[in-house]
Amino acid sequence: MRGPLYIGSEIYRRSTYGALHPLAIPRVTTCTDLCRAMGWLDDSQFRTAPMADLRDVLRFHDPAYVDALRRAEETQTVSEADRERFRIGAEGNPVYAEIYRRPMTSAGGVMLACRLALEGRVVHCPGGGTHHGRPARASGFCYLNDPVLGLLTWLEAGLDNIVYLDIDAHHGDGVQDAFHDDDRVFTISVHEAGRWPFTGAVEDRAGGAARNLPVPAGFNDTEMRWVMEEAVLPLIEARRPQAIFLQCGADALEEDPLAKLSLSNNAHFAIAAQMQALAPRVVVTGGGGYNPYTVGRCWAGVWATLNGIEIPERTTPGAEAVLRGLTYNRAAGRNPPQHWFTTIKDAPREGPVRDEVRRVASITVSERLEA
Ligand SMILES: [Zn+2]
Repeated sequence: MRGPLYIGSEIYRRSTYGALHPLAIPRVTTCTDLCRAMGWLDDSQFRTAPMADLRDVLRFHDPAYVDALRRAEETQTVSEADRERFRIGAEGNPVYAEIYRRPMTSAGGVMLACRLALEGRVVHCPGGGTHHGRPARASGFCYLNDPVLGLLTWLEAGLDNIVYLDIDAHHGDGVQDAFHDDDRVFTISVHEAGRWPFTGAVEDRAGGAARNLPVPAGFNDTEMRWVMEEAVLPLIEARRPQAIFLQCGADALEEDPLAKLSLSNNAHFAIAAQMQALAPRVVVTGGGGYNPYTVGRCWAGVWATLNGIEIPERTTPGAEAVLRGLTYNRAAGRNPPQHWFTTIKDAPREGPVRDEVRRVASITVSERLEA
């Protein structure tokens, strides 16, 4: 089998949602630069994400909404009517310089990833993973829903048994709702309980097409391994999926400023390897992640893992320079710990498996909702 492919784009390099927004930071290009500097990514494995074809995007999104995004980029402003109707320029979804081209590039990248996966490639597309996007509304920093568009690509190619696994700290609400009652796409989301968007309760099964594992603050590597082994892996193995889409958001890591989960990136690496072993077609995307050091290191390490590369203890001088070149306008960014510069792999964050985590895992695999 030919090696994994990496989909990136330079559009992410200088793109920002604004200096005060959590997405002020470079993420995709940090990952790409790290992979190259570690010697893990050469041109033969790199593909540039194309802008999505508008017709493909309109399979899920409302034409008036997509047109409003285009207009917002062109005018760099938004009418009161568009703000009200489409939530553009509202609720953390700012008007920014690439508000049309960047989501269109993420969507184009993910749809390309899914097409390449159909040819038997494992594909990493860190620019994708905008799981909150709605057909006619921006939500949770997401304008288009590129996972949904990628999954539709697979359905249109004839696949009818797909697993979508979402390990972002936030519930994958937009994807779950898009395939509510649709047994062809089985969505599984592990996310922080009680956090925005406040959906994804353990009882919520989307008509049978979803499972949700809301986990408590402080969720550690041991607990993630527990829910994978007790619930997620058995569910996936039983379905023998034709393809797996892993939304590998990095905001469940300990150092993330927007969530309170406590994983190390070893959890993400282990899950990426497990998904690669469970289906012949695998696409991995990014998602949330608001600390540029931890996001870049996590997604670069995921790429190494997909390639079967053992991650060395120390970064190369080039990779260290990439990390030292980042700026992070939060308290933790003023005096970053050395290991944010000198390692890719975190120290493991093991701990007890709490009763709440056991309870959620056992409900998830039971036929009935009581456990
Ligand atoms: Zn998130």
